[in-house]
Amino acid sequence: MSKTIYLRGSILHFLRDPGAEADPAAWEHWDDGALKIVDGHVAAMGPAAQVLSSRAAADVVHDHSGKLIVPGFVDTHVHYAQVDVIASYGRQLLDWLNDYTFPAERAFADPEHAQQIAGLFLETLLRHGTTTAAVYPTVHKQSVNAFFEQAQQCNMRMVCGKILMDRNCPDYLRDDVAGAEQDCRELIQRWHGKGRLGYALTPRFAPTSTPQQLAMIGRLYVENPGVWMQTHLAENVDEIKWVKALFPEARSYLDVYDRFGLLGPRSVFAHCIHLDEIDRARFVASESAMSFCPTSNLFIGSGFFDLDAARTLGVRVGLATDVGGGTSYSMLQTLAEAYKVLMTHGQRLNAWRGFWLATLGGAECLSLDDKIGSFQVGKEADCVVLDWAATPVLARRTEVARTLEERLFALMMLGDDRAVAATYIEGQRAL
Ligand SMILES: [Zn+2]
Repeated sequence: MSKTIYLRGSILHFLRDPGAEADPAAWEHWDDGALKIVDGHVAAMGPAAQVLSSRAAADVVHDHSGKLIVPGFVDTHVHYAQVDVIASYGRQLLDWLNDYTFPAERAFADPEHAQQIAGLFLETLLRHGTTTAAVYPTVHKQSVNAFFEQAQQCNMRMVCGKILMDRNCPDYLRDDVAGAEQDCRELIQRWHGKGRLGYALTPRFAPTSTPQQLAMIGRLYVENPGVWMQTHLAENVDEIKWVKALFPEARSYLDVYDRFGLLGPRSVFAHCIHLDEIDRARFVASESAMSFCPTSNLFIGSGFFDLDAARTLGVRVGLATDVGGGTSYSMLQTLAEAYKVLMTHGQRLNAWRGFWLATLGGAECLSLDDKIGSFQVGKEADCVVLDWAATPVLARRTEVARTLEERLFALMMLGDDRAVAATYIEGQRAL
């Protein structure tokens, strides 16, 4: 028997990028709105009076009147194995990896530790209103199994895949081409397309893979249509120099990945700070996507992402926390830092575009916009309920705000996990 529930509240979702000029045709909003959810999928939405009129006596209504309901947030780049690394002091990228990240990732050889942290991580995402993420585990196969097992239990739509690295890392985290290939094949077979889970080929970044390993990843990418490819790109100046020394034949950092066939519509590159026009043109031609990680880029001193350059060309961009380099799991906090990063470079992130970026923009970045990211009828009903009055400062600011845009902007600048009143996964209250 099918199960019908209703959510009532102020409903906002996006149909496309509102752009720098905030085109009002890009979103729909009902101040007193409702969502009808049948078997976890959106069946109707609109004014509450209209949507609720089809209600049967047995149907449940969750009343969130006075609060804002938006699609669940999509974090397009985050490391679950770095739960214990967040807020570590004083290092830029390469020292950061050696001093903090690699030692923390070593512990994931133990499946029990991996289970425990995966559970903690997913619960943390739910508390922050994030319902989908593209996740990095560690090099260990068991870290992927632990993550997907936990994600399956929560029924969350998640993308993840074993980190690949066969050089320039400690022995205890090093794989090799043949072993890594076998692990990937097994993991794809076991997890890709199972329920709401998807597999991503995940070379950590170019310096930690041999050309042979990158070539193997390129082969698997061709052989397994539907899997993702995720990695880091052009984050830090010293990193880029190192890539140049390791791959002298490549025109640029992006070109290293390009030579091994790792660009494409399902490829997601995190950071993308230090790019040139030729790189951006390759993003366009290959339909590859970018993750914008503002708290991480500020915290480890990497640089400033150019959103306008990417969006003007039509490159898909999603927002990302990049915890543990990032300093918050909150996509609202991440939007606040994104706003500041762009402001330093004469760009502005209006609230509409901000909320698009955290929802549908992220879904587009991960090629999941046919399933999540908006409340279009038929989509999976993942949503987050946000409280305008979660803190005294937020309550005061949103109370005096004259327009919805002002209220949304206040929420994106002042909100965090305290503003998350409820999170729903396919229409089921998860928090
Ligand atoms: Zn990262």
